[in-house]
Amino acid sequence: MFIDKVRVQFLAGKGGNGVIAWRREKYIPKGGPTGGDGGTGGSIILKADENVPSLEWFQNRSKIAAENGRNGNGACKKGRNGKTLILKVPCGTLVKDPESQILYEDLCEHGQEYVICQGGVGGFGNFYFRTPTNQAPNIATPGQEGEVKSVELELKLIADVGLVGFPNVGKSTLLSCITKARPKIGNYHFTTLRPNLGFLTDVDNNKIIIADIPGIIDGASANRGLGLEFLRHIERTKALLIVLDASCIEGVTLGTVYSILQNEFESYGMDLQQRPFLIVLNKCDVLDAQKNIEEFKMEYPMLKKKMYCISALTQEGIPSLVSAITNLFSH
Ligand code: GDP
Ligand code: MG
Repeated sequence: MFIDKVRVQFLAGKGGNGVIAWRREKYIPKGGPTGGDGGTGGSIILKADENVPSLEWFQNRSKIAAENGRNGNGACKKGRNGKTLILKVPCGTLVKDPESQILYEDLCEHGQEYVICQGGVGGFGNFYFRTPTNQAPNIATPGQEGEVKSVELELKLIADVGLVGFPNVGKSTLLSCITKARPKIGNYHFTTLRPNLGFLTDVDNNKIIIADIPGIIDGASANRGLGLEFLRHIERTKALLIVLDASCIEGVTLGTVYSILQNEFESYGMDLQQRPFLIVLNKCDVLDAQKNIEEFKMEYPMLKKKMYCISALTQEGIPSLVSAITNLFSH
């Protein structure tokens, strides 16, 4: 299963204690203070990485702690610092307060970092406290505790284009024919359990990232089935390709399917008016497809300009769809 929401407690390392020590050497009767400072505790940093596909790594880790700083040593030696933990998360990870849902950080750029908790500062050894009037200070301070923070990590995919539609309409096939992505394709519902990504390059050589999002099922926005989880991903795409099966093999007209999808978007609070979209009528190689498409056009004449009849199988209509997608992003 695709993991896109986890709760984790992060514990930065404690600072090492400062120590009390004295110089003890032959022929030097009153050696001064030599207690070193404690090392700093390890901090914890989250870092966005485009090669990390999901939050799965965090799934069975409810607590993650960084190393403590070591205590100071004699001879004015500072204790070793605790290692900073750098944890990779997928691009598009939101860091939130688990209760209030307040957003701490949105890690969307590859390489972006967020210090989730700072390690504790090390204590001072007695060497630090020496002054002209007190040359033998008998004090050292303990290291500070590291920061502790519980957060919710939530992955929201960031893609330029989201492929949406019911299962089995040919979204994965379409992704594999317009990009180099090789998603699993099958003639059954829910072949896609997590979003697949591929990209197109436009005339200026910019990447347009396309996400194949698992099939929406009726009632997805009422939180039945996989749907709602994945509507979240669509929310972060700049444009949508609404993929419909023109063969209408399940006996439902294109108009009906389209209105069901619209309802899904609306009840999720997503405004299609605000977002460019194209309607992809796939499987136009199949018998009756043309007839179904004509009916759909009659029903929704104002959408005609957005409709692209294609066959992901025979590649018919693919070039004009690809240029329509790139045109959405040309400035
Ligand atoms: P998804 O669930 O929307 O990702 O659909 P898939 O891409 O897995 O495809 C579902 C089935 O439809 C597979 O058996 C594909 O081979 C078939 N299919 C996809 N595109 C076409 C097409 O243009 N024409 C025909 N005849 N079949 C297609
Ligand atoms: Mg699929």
